[in-house]
Amino acid sequence: MNDLTCIIIGGGHAGLGALKAIKEETRGMANGQRIRFVLIDKQPGHVRKVMLFRPAAGGEEIMIPWTHYGFSEGVEFMQGTVTSVDSGEKRIRYTDAQGNDARIRYDLLVVAAGSIVRRPDPDQGGIALTDPQAAADIRERWRANLRQAAGETNPKERKRLMTVAVAGAGNSGIETSAELALAMQKEASTLGLNSSDISVYLLNAQERLFPEGPEKAGRKLDQILSDCGVTVLHNRKAMREQAGVLTLSNSDRLPVGLCIWTIGLIPNPALRSMGLPLTSEVQVLVDECYRVQGMSGVYSIGDCARIVDPSTGKADQMTCKEAGPQALRLGKIVMADLEGRSAPVHKSFLDTFGFGLGQNRGLMWVRKWGLDIIITGKLAWKVKKLGWDFASWLR
Ligand SMILES: Cc1cc2nc3c(=O)[nH]c(=O)nc-3n(C[C@H](O)[C@H](O)[C@H](O)COP(=O)(O)OP(=O)(O)OC[C@H]3O[C@@H](n4cnc5c(N)ncnc54)[C@H](O)[C@@H]3O)c2cc1C
Repeated sequence: MNDLTCIIIGGGHAGLGALKAIKEETRGMANGQRIRFVLIDKQPGHVRKVMLFRPAAGGEEIMIPWTHYGFSEGVEFMQGTVTSVDSGEKRIRYTDAQGNDARIRYDLLVVAAGSIVRRPDPDQGGIALTDPQAAADIRERWRANLRQAAGETNPKERKRLMTVAVAGAGNSGIETSAELALAMQKEASTLGLNSSDISVYLLNAQERLFPEGPEKAGRKLDQILSDCGVTVLHNRKAMREQAGVLTLSNSDRLPVGLCIWTIGLIPNPALRSMGLPLTSEVQVLVDECYRVQGMSGVYSIGDCARIVDPSTGKADQMTCKEAGPQALRLGKIVMADLEGRSAPVHKSFLDTFGFGLGQNRGLMWVRKWGLDIIITGKLAWKVKKLGWDFASWLR
């Protein structure tokens, strides 16, 4: 009897989780047929996207080669960029690592093509923290600036070279600014500079930090960031960085050595031409069991899918704390569909969020039974680190 082929598009936090969950639930078999799993991703390894700011600050490697996952029997990895899905022929089309156009048939397909980091207009200057290469460029730039500052005799110019602005104060901007301030202070001391001359500004377009959580958590984040040496400017947007001057929305001009943009995520634009049904925000349209509308055997989860809790009407956000539970549920859904049973339906995850703010600093928030529980310090940092490992299926 022929094998069934289950293809997973995207080995990000959601796709890796889907592979693991479907494999474990089915034990590699369905109705007496063996399931052959194929994970296809355009990258040579899994990018730990949630940790993108770590290489920008400390140079940490966040790409894990696929071989690390020691995929057991029945799983193949293919490097390629999927261009379209033909649900009639049950085939996907992709460009392989050598640039060749290729096709592969599926019986089951999981679309987990994720999101990309939003970029400012090119004339707005600075560097957007979009991927590991951009993170490396950012690190190279601020370190070069500090080396230059060490030999600079003009105090104003030295101060500028020791100043960084982080534009966008979502969780990525918050985490980036904290880690960066600590890393820059350390490097400044090594170079014989005064570490207290390091200035990291975090530009927040909103009135307070973390508007999704309670005010108290926002205030605590402000405090921890200030302890790290970050100055948060609320109600301020970065407009444009040019020749070492950052213009803000209130017309203030801030001399900076570097402006880093961390202005959020958008669903993967490649979805536009894949032939999948999409919402106006370019997310895949799925039902409450992650089945793609009108395409038999096709599922979608993670940042690229519009997933709504049918009991509350609440849509999941683009976070991996939501992608993880979706992946686990997808394993059960696929198994139920293969056996013709009724499948579990989507349910929103707990209201919770964690911030890693540099070694032994963090903030965790959970809302349960109407209570806001906030943990800070070493424990929050440890939980956050565990979260990063779980998100990349390393535990
Ligand atoms: C700096 C930063 C910090 C974050 N912090 C948190 C946090 O603290 N907590 C939290 O819950 N969330 C956080 N997020 C959000 C989190 O990273 C995303 O929700 C998560 O990455 C979604 O996982 P995904 O698998 O859906 O998508 P992605 O991680 O985007 O993975 C998509 C995968 O698909 C591959 N791919 C894309 N297009 C194609 C194609 N055409 N063909 C083949 N492969 C393709 C990509 O290479 C990638 O491997 C953060 C994001 C950033 C950028």
